[in-house]
Amino acid sequence: MGILHFLAQNFRTGSRTRKPADVVPCPPGFRGVLVHEPEDCTACGTCVYVCSPGAIDIERETEGVHWRYDAGRCTYCGRCAEYCPTDALGFENRSGTMAQKRERQWTDDWIAYRKCERCGEPMLPMPVETALRLHHNAADAQGTADLFRYCEKCRARLTGQRFKDALTGSGSASPSEKEK
Ligand code: SF4
Ligand code: SF4
Repeated sequence: MGILHFLAQNFRTGSRTRKPADVVPCPPGFRGVLVHEPEDCTACGTCVYVCSPGAIDIERETEGVHWRYDAGRCTYCGRCAEYCPTDALGFENRSGTMAQKRERQWTDDWIAYRKCERCGEPMLPMPVETALRLHHNAADAQGTADLFRYCEKCRARLTGQRFKDALTGSGSASPSEKEK
């Protein structure tokens, strides 16, 4: 037995090395690779809260937010994707690649702040596409996306103003027209 034996066997019967096309498909619903879409993420922190092994971490800086994920700690329970309010997290139905170094299992997504259109404070916006996932109709989604052009404090003021308008039945000027 030796290398010559195996070479001769391969010549006789053909190689038994699996080719990519021979890979057995993963079963339906297999949670293989966690994917994060930074453009849909509002850095709400829900995924950090529900992740028992602490595989996700959010670090806030002055210009934006680091969303970090350590696949080496992940148990692929699926709770982060289940609870993410904007569908920024999901699983791909495939096996992840083997990593020779721990650092290669880490994901570090940078989400830059934008400026509040009213006061200029740094904030995370909510794109219309993200708002659409949270609402049943496009008009409500657009209303939420409009509101998220402003920072938390300005949103509170605008919501208070809308509530007052609804009670008094006064005009329906846009938030920017009312507050600027
Ligand atoms: S739960 Fe979703 S939106 Fe919230 S921080 Fe995590 S990935 Fe981002
Ligand atoms: S799948 Fe589970 S363990 Fe992995 S990051 Fe999400 S919540 Fe944490």
